[in-house]
Amino acid sequence: MSNKTTCDVAIIGAGIIGLATAYYLSKKGMKLAIIEKNYIGSGSTLRCIGGIRQQFSTPTSIRVMKESVSLFAQMKEEFGFSVDFHQGGYLLLAHDEQFVEVFKSNIQIQRQEGVNVSLLTPEETKDLVPELNIAGLLAAAYCPDDGQAYPFLVLKGYKQKLDAKRQAFYLHNPVTKIEKPKNFILTLQDGCQLEAPKVVLSAGPWTRELAQQMGLDLPLYPERHEALVTERIPKIIDPMLVDYRQDGCYFHQYLSGHIVGCYTPYPNFPGICHEASLEFLREMGKRMIRLVPALEKATILRQWAGCYTMTPDGSPIVDESPISNLYIASGMSGHGFMFGPGIGRHLAHFIAEEKWDVDFREFAIDRAFKGKESLK
Ligand SMILES: Cc1cc2nc3c(=O)[nH]c(=O)nc-3n(C[C@H](O)[C@H](O)[C@H](O)COP(=O)(O)OP(=O)(O)OC[C@H]3O[C@@H](n4cnc5c(N)ncnc54)[C@H](O)[C@@H]3O)c2cc1C
Repeated sequence: MSNKTTCDVAIIGAGIIGLATAYYLSKKGMKLAIIEKNYIGSGSTLRCIGGIRQQFSTPTSIRVMKESVSLFAQMKEEFGFSVDFHQGGYLLLAHDEQFVEVFKSNIQIQRQEGVNVSLLTPEETKDLVPELNIAGLLAAAYCPDDGQAYPFLVLKGYKQKLDAKRQAFYLHNPVTKIEKPKNFILTLQDGCQLEAPKVVLSAGPWTRELAQQMGLDLPLYPERHEALVTERIPKIIDPMLVDYRQDGCYFHQYLSGHIVGCYTPYPNFPGICHEASLEFLREMGKRMIRLVPALEKATILRQWAGCYTMTPDGSPIVDESPISNLYIASGMSGHGFMFGPGIGRHLAHFIAEEKWDVDFREFAIDRAFKGKESLK
């Protein structure tokens, strides 16, 4: 016999997007069910490297990120412990003229939105990061207010706050069926059924297959991205370094002293795959040392793989779907951790008040998906 429980909003997926949305819905007094097929953060969020930047190319992304930065900054007080939020900046490196032009035009938009960003010469860049190899560098875009936080601590903070409000978590228990006779009825793997008038689908790379159950075909394409972490070493870099060459990479140093980094594979590696590769390990080491030769002495501790969930234009889908009261929040690309707090707050407002408090048309489900976020 099924055991049906009711709530105001059911949230499928306990990554950063699901938990941040839950946190802000909970603040509004909503009764929630948060369903996670594995453990909290087990999808992409705990595989990410915690970078937070405001240097985007479209106004909505920049605004969301400005807001996210201020929300990350408040977490220590809100959660009662530090989430290792640190504003060491992001330094985007251009080794060809095309990227210099991209940076210049983005800086104009970012400044219009009030972001503190500037274009540095190679010498100014070297002053900022003395260990950086500037051979071939033409210019760098720098925002000192960008930075990092530790994903494990951010999720822990949201979880504790939701527990304090006695919100219901269903962990290690995937949603296997979604139906909508009137309200939504979700069936979980253990047979438990949940009834909710509103559902948030924030299942990261699995969002597309879940939405298909409801007859929706969303342009969401998971791809594998890999990362590694070194042993702790004395402070060597403060900003996140992002090398935009095709064989570039990006990495930063946590407050703990560990260096964490990734590169964007070319060609991309489509599908949901959590298997790490030897190729990445070999390549990433070389690329990091090319950029910061002193890293030659650092020992790699471990590597892992996770997913970016891509959309055709590189911006997320955050919107009510054509199925009334079914909200989609996915397609976060390599930015979901940093977008999380800002998107969670606005999506919670939209769900509770049934109207946006900001212009989110850039993230609309029915947009044309033309153009491309130039700072992937
Ligand atoms: C190597 C790497 C580095 C990255 N670095 C950064 C970075 O520096 N900064 C940044 O902002 N972003 C970064 N990202 C991207 C970031 O991790 C993602 O954009 C973000 O975590 C997406 O969050 P999410 O909540 O949408 O998805 P997820 O974290 O994937 O959460 C979705 C959850 O849904 C659950 N789920 C799926 N199906 C079901 C089901 N049927 N029932 C119940 N639950 C289900 C999954 O188990 C999962 O936990 C990185 C990603 C990778 C892989």
